[in-house]
Amino acid sequence: MSIPLDTSGPFMKDYATETLCTWCDNCGDYGIWTAIKQALTELRLHPWQVLLCYDVGCHGNMSDKITAYTFHGLHGRVIPFAAGAKLANPRVPVMAFGGDGASFSEGVGHLVHAIRSNYPIVFVLHNNANYGLTTGQASALTWQGQSMNSSPNGIPERTLPSMDFVFSLEPTFVARSFSGDIPQMTEIFKTAIGHRGFAYVDILQSCPTYNKFATHKYLLEHCKPVGPDHDTSDFKKARAIAVDTSKHIFTGLLYQNKDVPSYYEQLKARQGLKTTAVEEVKKIDVSEWMKEFV
Ligand code: SF4
Repeated sequence: MSIPLDTSGPFMKDYATETLCTWCDNCGDYGIWTAIKQALTELRLHPWQVLLCYDVGCHGNMSDKITAYTFHGLHGRVIPFAAGAKLANPRVPVMAFGGDGASFSEGVGHLVHAIRSNYPIVFVLHNNANYGLTTGQASALTWQGQSMNSSPNGIPERTLPSMDFVFSLEPTFVARSFSGDIPQMTEIFKTAIGHRGFAYVDILQSCPTYNKFATHKYLLEHCKPVGPDHDTSDFKKARAIAVDTSKHIFTGLLYQNKDVPSYYEQLKARQGLKTTAVEEVKKIDVSEWMKEFV
């Protein structure tokens, strides 16, 4: 008996573009890119049903290597425009992608307020612990003492403890994976898209060109998925295992609180409305005003 082909889609190929990838060989972006397409396909979301927002960085070049509604904005500012789009049309799943450089320096204020506001978007941190696009300068997440292009004698500053920092803001969703584990990233992205509020997803990304310390091999040896007995509702324990990377780097869904309403749910002005702000925008004919500029 032959199995009928599912022709309804979507399929992974629907997310493809003809634009060639420009990432270095073995860059972790390839794995993350694959997992995003896999997750969206498995959720049966078509490219025209999702918005993918990109910060500036090597990963940001993904914006034209994937078919969807995409937005490629200013450095460090991916969260505000992703959140704005989501609030205007909450029916559309919105994913925002940013690097560790942008997210923990230029854009760190946006990250703080996104977590405390519980904006209903997914934020994926491409954490390669350096500014790859601009040729390997140290970021706030580069390991202290590492020699980088901008600091050949080693980084004098302490590494920002990003997981402890994120947990200090009382997030409602924290997950971690690494760019070599496509099945795990796929599952995490799917769960994150279904989360009610702000989903923080830290992807430890290999950057073979500039990151010579947290390499693919290192991450492969140190990353360890949390077991089935891990209680994702236990904030204290999740924080402890997220922060302590001395023996293992625990990966998977670390923490989720499903009870906290999202920012949108808390907006009194939106409560009870069946329409979205996008649908309510009035069409205004500006052709008369434009004549003076012609
Ligand atoms: Fe990837 Fe690093 Fe090359 Fe950028 S510099 S494309 S992050 S390997």
